Amino acid sequence: MSRIAFVNGQYRDIRDASVNIEDRGYQFADGVYEVCEVRGGKVVDLPRHMTRLQRSLKELRIAMPMPLSSLEVVIHEVMRRNRVTYGLVYLQITRGVARRDHAFPLRPVRPAIVITARSLSFDKNQETASRGIGVITIRENRWPRVDIKSIALLPNVLAKQQARESGAYEAWFVDGEGYVTEGASSNAWIVTDDGKIVTRSADTGILAGVTRAVLMDTIASLQMHFEERPFTPDEAYKAAEAFVTASSQIVMPVVTIDNRPVADGKPGSVAKRLREQFHRFSAFS
Ligand code: PLP
Repeated sequence: MSRIAFVNGQYRDIRDASVNIEDRGYQFADGVYEVCEVRGGKVVDLPRHMTRLQRSLKELRIAMPMPLSSLEVVIHEVMRRNRVTYGLVYLQITRGVARRDHAFPLRPVRPAIVITARSLSFDKNQETASRGIGVITIRENRWPRVDIKSIALLPNVLAKQQARESGAYEAWFVDGEGYVTEGASSNAWIVTDDGKIVTRSADTGILAGVTRAVLMDTIASLQMHFEERPFTPDEAYKAAEAFVTASSQIVMPVVTIDNRPVADGKPGSVAKRLREQFHRFSAFS
């Protein structure tokens, strides 16, 4: 079956789909994106993703290329055409096509949009979660506006590659004060010995993850203990549990940090429980 992408108003076979070489996304990473989980043929927490998308666009002064309601129709159509019932939807909007000049185009151009969807293996993801993943810590080297979900991801790409080359799956950035900010493509969490579930505040240094927000609701509803504060790698090494959250991974247990086992080096019960319960508190559309 050929994969279909939505590109600037048209559904195209992905092999023939293309964007203009003067697209500002291609030349300047001048754009934003969203990744949503698809489960049971529905998009998970779409309204929250759309709210964040609109915020990212606003921060960069890029217009929405179409009304939100139309965008949601297209997202579902891309899922349908690719027969994705479990997997991911990817959506990217750039400032558009213009002759190369760093400053915004003088005359407004139409933002460019691409939407793709792909299936994932549910069993494979569950298997990864039952084993847990390793993370490494590296120095934060991103720009301060990581609250914008921009497609400028070079530090994240290099961090992820460094993790892979170290036999780990994810890299946690550590800021100048010695605190973990977040992962290259996830938010970072630990569980303390006395059962407190800890993650950094979304005020500075991190992307406000949709999974993070829904998990906070999950934790509150389950009456578990939550603490919003930064933590150091040292505290994480000694934690009872650690995990990461992202739309593509939901709650993914972390079993090693910088090659040191977290507790007994197995996924913890809190992470497991939160992973099982998470979708009870998600919205499906
Ligand atoms: N932080 C970064 C840098 C990310 O790239 C991501 C997801 O891609 C997240 C956090 C988690 O965000 P979400 O839960 O909305 O997928």
